Amino acid sequence: MFPSQPASPPRYDAALPPAGRFAPSPSGDLHLGNLRTALAAWGFARATGRKFILRVEDLDRVKVGAAERNVADLAELGLDWDGPVDYQAPRIPQFLGEVRRLTDAGLTYECYCTRKEIHAAASAPHGIPGAYPGTCRDLSEQARERRRQERPPAIRLRADVHEFSVHDYFAGEYTGAVDDMVLVRNDRTPAYNLAVVVDDAHQGIDQVVRGDDLLPSAPRQAYLAGLLGYRAPEYVHVPLVLGPTGARLAKRDGAVTLDELHALGYTTRDVLLWLGQSLGVSRTLNTTADLLRDWNPGAWNTDPATFTQWPEKRA
Ligand code: GLU
Repeated sequence: MFPSQPASPPRYDAALPPAGRFAPSPSGDLHLGNLRTALAAWGFARATGRKFILRVEDLDRVKVGAAERNVADLAELGLDWDGPVDYQAPRIPQFLGEVRRLTDAGLTYECYCTRKEIHAAASAPHGIPGAYPGTCRDLSEQARERRRQERPPAIRLRADVHEFSVHDYFAGEYTGAVDDMVLVRNDRTPAYNLAVVVDDAHQGIDQVVRGDDLLPSAPRQAYLAGLLGYRAPEYVHVPLVLGPTGARLAKRDGAVTLDELHALGYTTRDVLLWLGQSLGVSRTLNTTADLLRDWNPGAWNTDPATFTQWPEKRA
């Protein structure tokens, strides 16, 4: 299935205990949607006897103090995790090392395109919407030399398929696009799609529970995992919480973080109760442990929940 798989042996360590995880990007405070996904991820891991890892994805978009507040909010909600909170940034050399394995197998190329160029090329007739059109894939060495003078290159995967299928707990068999995704950005930062795949494999994560906005990314991540010799995890994409406009819940939609809801007079338990109801859990959640009683996620809501601003609560 992976004709040009690198020769080196798989690095996936089957001896690691199976684990689930929650992986927030510390770009701001967690809102109800993030908290709900975290609760679901914790529940899936704990209900299936897995370890649960909290991994802060701090390779980009970091807001000062947000990681610490994210961790504190998850603990306040009643979630626990195994081992210390994990941070991605110290592993940059490891991520780049995995790209080197792909490069040695002829599976990468340098890309010099600006966002504008990609946008223009991708919207040309016959372009796959949103996919990289392959502008730099087959440049001559001469052309590369010239373009290298203009801007530092990003590194892209030389994908040999256009789509790939994964299995998702809620969506079932899901087929989505695989393109020549960026592995290393042109500022030398490992890209999300690479880091998530490498970390999940090296941390023994065989169950990925996250928001269903990331379902379209699962095929390209599973494909990349296969190229690196890893086994793809099982996927559980949970529906998002939407704001009043129907778009994904955001800070601008009102009081949506634990702190903001506390300020309106709501307790953490009120929030937990709402999270359980909006997921469609049959039990009333007085504590997170209640989520594990009568565990039956197959009966959860599969439609997104809509948040409407909570009125100030009188004591
Ligand atoms: N860090 C990503 C986010 O907060 C989630 C990554 C993942 O769960 O795969 O959107």
